[in-house]
Amino acid sequence: MDKDIATPVRTRAILEKYGFSFKKSLGQNFLIDTNILKKIVSFADLTENSGAIEIGPGIGALTEQLARSSKKVIAFEIDQRLLPILRDTLSPYENVKVIHKDVLEADVKTVMEEEFQGLADVMVVANLPYYVTTPIIMKLLEERLPIRGIVCMLQKEVADRIAAKPGTKEYGSLSIAVQYYTEAETVMIVPKTVFVPQPNVDSAVIRLTKRKQPAVVVKDEGFFFQVTKASFAQRRKTLLNNLTSQLPDGKQKKEEILSALNASGIDPTRRGETLSLEEFGRLADELYSYYH
Ligand code: SAM
Repeated sequence: MDKDIATPVRTRAILEKYGFSFKKSLGQNFLIDTNILKKIVSFADLTENSGAIEIGPGIGALTEQLARSSKKVIAFEIDQRLLPILRDTLSPYENVKVIHKDVLEADVKTVMEEEFQGLADVMVVANLPYYVTTPIIMKLLEERLPIRGIVCMLQKEVADRIAAKPGTKEYGSLSIAVQYYTEAETVMIVPKTVFVPQPNVDSAVIRLTKRKQPAVVVKDEGFFFQVTKASFAQRRKTLLNNLTSQLPDGKQKKEEILSALNASGIDPTRRGETLSLEEFGRLADELYSYYH
């Protein structure tokens, strides 16, 4: 087996060989701890028949672990300077393909159709660039890609919001957006010392397991998300206050909003952060008739 990329000594040697300088604006914090990488991969439950999608391979630290644990890896990397490095570091692995593209611009669905024919399942596994964690996760979920789930490293603060339960201060529209599509859990807290350069914030690994059906069945998904966002607009305000100030014509529709709250069995003086996904689903469906 080849020497791991993610040791401090080998990483330094690779960076020096290519004169690579980190770009903070691209969220470049590379992992230099093989044990952490192996643990991340283990949370993805890959088999020899799995495909893996990586976002931001860097110099290939996680990519190589994925290559050893799956059938095929497709990695999207935005920074052109990393391509020759990856060609070098990943040369022992024939089952890896690096695509030079901003993942937010990429047609991931078509890439999956072309690259993962006949595989048992596909997982996204990544140490995400922290400046775009939420847009990346939401893109992967909203495009309804045929993936089994996502295991990714991100800022602990965002992980806490994603996996938050109702009634906590972290619970908000991001928790709902992600938990609508997936079961979300924080599986590991990661110290800053396993990165070069060390990030300014604490990190965590989350596992998102796609649900077969969304967590709640609603009449109109877009409207459901509009209602949840409106409900959290000002956290100290009551639901009734937020909905009347945020929904279109909310002030004029106060009576209708009140009756939708009553019909869904939700006390109008409650705050958004106390409502479960099911309650938001009922509320959005009751409000729907007044808006369509
Ligand atoms: N996977 C490597 C590791 O764990 O050591 C590097 C992770 S580093 C946190 C994030 C990587 O994502 C960098 O290589 C960066 O260049 C890349 N990146 C940043 N924005 C990106 C984007 N929009 N699309 C694809 N890759 C991106």
